[in-house]
Amino acid sequence: MKAVTTSGRELTLTQAAVDGVRTRVRGPVLLPGGAGYEEARTVWNAMIDRRPAIVVRCLGTGDVIAGVRFAREHDLLLCLKGGGHNIAGLATADSALMLDMSLMRGVWVDPDRRVAHAQAGCLLGDVDRETQVHGLAAVLGFVSATGITGLTLGGGFGYLTRRFGWTSDNVVGMDVVTAEANLVRASAEENPDLFWGLRGGGGNFGVVTGIDYALYPVGPEVVGGVVAWPASEAPRVLELYRTLAEEAPPELTLVALMRPAPPAPWLPKDMHGKPIVAILACYTGAPQEGLKAVAPIKSFGNPIGDMVMRRPYAHMQSLLDATQPKGRRYYWKSEYLPTIEPALCDMVIRHAERIQSPHSAVILFQIGGALNAREADHSPVGNRDARYVLNVTAAWERPEEDATHVAWTREAWDDMKAFSTGGTYINFLTEDEGNERIAAALGTGLGRLANVKAAWDPENVFRTNRNIVPA
Ligand SMILES: Cc1cc2nc3c(=O)[nH]c(=O)nc-3n(C[C@H](O)[C@H](O)[C@H](O)COP(=O)(O)OP(=O)(O)OC[C@H]3O[C@@H](n4cnc5c(N)ncnc54)[C@H](O)[C@@H]3O)c2cc1C
Repeated sequence: MKAVTTSGRELTLTQAAVDGVRTRVRGPVLLPGGAGYEEARTVWNAMIDRRPAIVVRCLGTGDVIAGVRFAREHDLLLCLKGGGHNIAGLATADSALMLDMSLMRGVWVDPDRRVAHAQAGCLLGDVDRETQVHGLAAVLGFVSATGITGLTLGGGFGYLTRRFGWTSDNVVGMDVVTAEANLVRASAEENPDLFWGLRGGGGNFGVVTGIDYALYPVGPEVVGGVVAWPASEAPRVLELYRTLAEEAPPELTLVALMRPAPPAPWLPKDMHGKPIVAILACYTGAPQEGLKAVAPIKSFGNPIGDMVMRRPYAHMQSLLDATQPKGRRYYWKSEYLPTIEPALCDMVIRHAERIQSPHSAVILFQIGGALNAREADHSPVGNRDARYVLNVTAAWERPEEDATHVAWTREAWDDMKAFSTGGTYINFLTEDEGNERIAAALGTGLGRLANVKAAWDPENVFRTNRNIVPA
């Protein structure tokens, strides 16, 4: 069987070698053409079409250790798949050995210590489901099918970020299998340099097998949902967004977006496919306060749809899922913003008018709050001046339309990047974004990360990621 080494050299794996890995792991070992291989090799973004040589679906830490050993013995290129949601497809690589963590989805909650231990293959929804049993929540993202590990290793933001910081600011510890195939603990007390690097430096330093998250009382009900207006109302609605977001308490997170209306039951049929402007709101404090906080949005102008209401937190966490299915073609451009300037709103409107796919959008996420209060080097996520995230998101189905939608995204970004802090989110970088953008995402932390890389992975075994070259 054809495979590649870490340096890209072709190599042939004998049947005996493949049989050898089968005897060493508990989980399924999948090969091209075999059952389960296609599902395992594909990732969320259909623009990515790569074929690993072997997929090991790990069932536990023992399988991860065996997988890393096998890769080291044959000098095989290794890739690691969590939720497979990375837009650049970093979870998969041609002719590599893939360690697929997606069968490792256990979550254990200690309500007294307010800590959850989640296995590395968990999706966000797995953690929310178990922590909400105790009225607790971890700081996670907006779409429940996203993998926890990729999200956390790159930073992570969601409805609780304004109160508690980046997801990675709220990690208590991680279990990691190193390049030497040893299991180590990374926390403030144990291997603190590795712990620092993992909280934003991506999967550069080892295979994470489990993550411990700090938990906070949230829910079971929050106030949240979306209010939508016709795009003709966008100048007034975006001005409302700007004003409300600047004054919003940390419990309230506001997201503004412009896109063609999806065929959602809460929107009138005759508006489906027509351009809209919308505000997504979520108040994670007491629901009575939440209803007051969202009142100015609900009563503004003449909305065509309003589904902001009291709802279970876990439901809020999956509200956007249907808009982001696996298997479409996706291309994004993203920047952190220090504030929302009126001139930026004009550009959002202008570029939203030019959207050519029913699934594309321009989105402004609000994240400012607790993350701004921490020291710049608290974790390598950095970007402590970021208060909003601009994401220009194209999504479509047909490969022959790639050039059209990529061009729209790039043109919109070209115009709007002048409003950036200069930083960008590493987890939103696309396949064609290189070292310059990694540097923009990691800023001054990059040098220190190179030292952590030299200490923990000097041979760069973990390289199918936003790769940090060892110092
Ligand atoms: C629809 C959608 C919504 C999103 N929403 C948000 C959001 O609200 N907030 C936010 O912050 N981000 C969000 N993201 C971005 C998200 O954080 C990244 O896509 C992230 O990479 C997803 O993690 P994953 O485990 O699914 O990734 P994968 O594609 O599986 O992996 C991504 C990277 O993580 C590494 N990795 C995976 N597993 C391990 C492991 N066990 N050990 C070490 N390294 C590992 C891989 O090598 C790869 O480099 C969203 C993405 C999508 C597609």
